[in-house]
Amino acid sequence: MNKQTVKDVDVKGKKVLVRCDFNVPLKNGTIADDTRITAALPTIRYLRDHGAAVALCSHLGRPKGKPDPKYSLRPVADYLTKALDRNVGMLDDCVGDQVAAAVSNLKTGEVLLMENTRFHAGETTNDADFAAQLARGFDLFVNDAFGAAHRAHASTEGVAHHLPAVAGLLMAKELDALIRLKENPAEPVAAIFGGAKISDKIGVIEAMLGKTAVLLIGGGMANMFFKVQGLEIGDSFIEEKGLDTARQILGKAGSKLMLPTDVIVAREIRENAEHKTVSVDAVAPGWRIVDLGPASVDAFTQRLKEMKTVIWNGPLGVYETRPFDAATIAMARSLAELDAETYVGGGDSGAAVNQAGTAEKMTHVSTGGGAFLEFLEGKRLPGVAILKDK
Ligand code: ADP
Ligand code: MG
Repeated sequence: MNKQTVKDVDVKGKKVLVRCDFNVPLKNGTIADDTRITAALPTIRYLRDHGAAVALCSHLGRPKGKPDPKYSLRPVADYLTKALDRNVGMLDDCVGDQVAAAVSNLKTGEVLLMENTRFHAGETTNDADFAAQLARGFDLFVNDAFGAAHRAHASTEGVAHHLPAVAGLLMAKELDALIRLKENPAEPVAAIFGGAKISDKIGVIEAMLGKTAVLLIGGGMANMFFKVQGLEIGDSFIEEKGLDTARQILGKAGSKLMLPTDVIVAREIRENAEHKTVSVDAVAPGWRIVDLGPASVDAFTQRLKEMKTVIWNGPLGVYETRPFDAATIAMARSLAELDAETYVGGGDSGAAVNQAGTAEKMTHVSTGGGAFLEFLEGKRLPGVAILKDK
């Protein structure tokens, strides 16, 4: 990686603003998945142990540019207090006089968390004034929020115009892994795409087509392919604007493309709803496709055994609703058994490998969704581009 990291600069005695990706799923005010927080700990510990005074900031969810208690980062401060075994103070804002006073009083080895940056409209518009206020009182900016690096927001990009800016350890780890995947993967390479929206992923699918030997499509995404092939899909999820995309990929991919041959259909999406396995040409009206069938899972798994690199984005079924997580979990387990480098990206895909308990067995599980996809597509990530070169 050609960007400087926290290890390339002297952090001792410095006031350091760290942009983390604490955009975690919350359920009734508690953290439903802590992957992103755990991933941020190495940078926080490194800075703390090397004599820096540390203030953390992040966005959470999509508040509309003003404070909304539903999106408060307070649960994250509580989590960090336990994880770091010392009090992590929580500020009510990320800019303003009270914040400036707290930053000014912040001592070496202390860590505090500022409130959601998206409580200000200037965050997403990358307002120059707001970015300058964020930078107030700090000596160094560390971007560790790989998951937000595809956005040119005030806390990911704007603030770096006011402070020397380097990558955090998570950011560096993500970039090192994904640069290898993009530029020098062990061949042959297979890509598996699932999930719901094809229109978000067209760019990366097209970019990957040139580099992959096999393209496996599952999840809701496969429905668009079935539909353009003239198959009945009943009440299955469909993204109208994705149909053209599916048509294009069908035209370009040729024999690389592998689609499911059987699917699980259900009357409704509900735990243990009535369901059955059918061939893809036997989906009846009134039913919806919710998962891949066992023959498709087997065929996909067999094909992957010949691969040296596998990249996976998007669950193969409605994995949040049991038992329609079966194909996704099976895939997470077969990837763990492969003699290949395995890269998993996407919020739901990451959650799925956690659910399957195989995250540790993957070469890399990215904390990024959009950033992961845009990076592989070859787009410039503004939150990375702005960091100091080595
Ligand atoms: P990621 O976050 O990994 O990029 P996506 O957000 O694109 O993945 O897709 C995840 C969503 O896709 C999940 O909510 C899952 O329920 C949904 N999904 C997967 N298969 C289907 C399907 N057959 N019908 C409807 N939704 C599906
Ligand atoms: Mg998602």
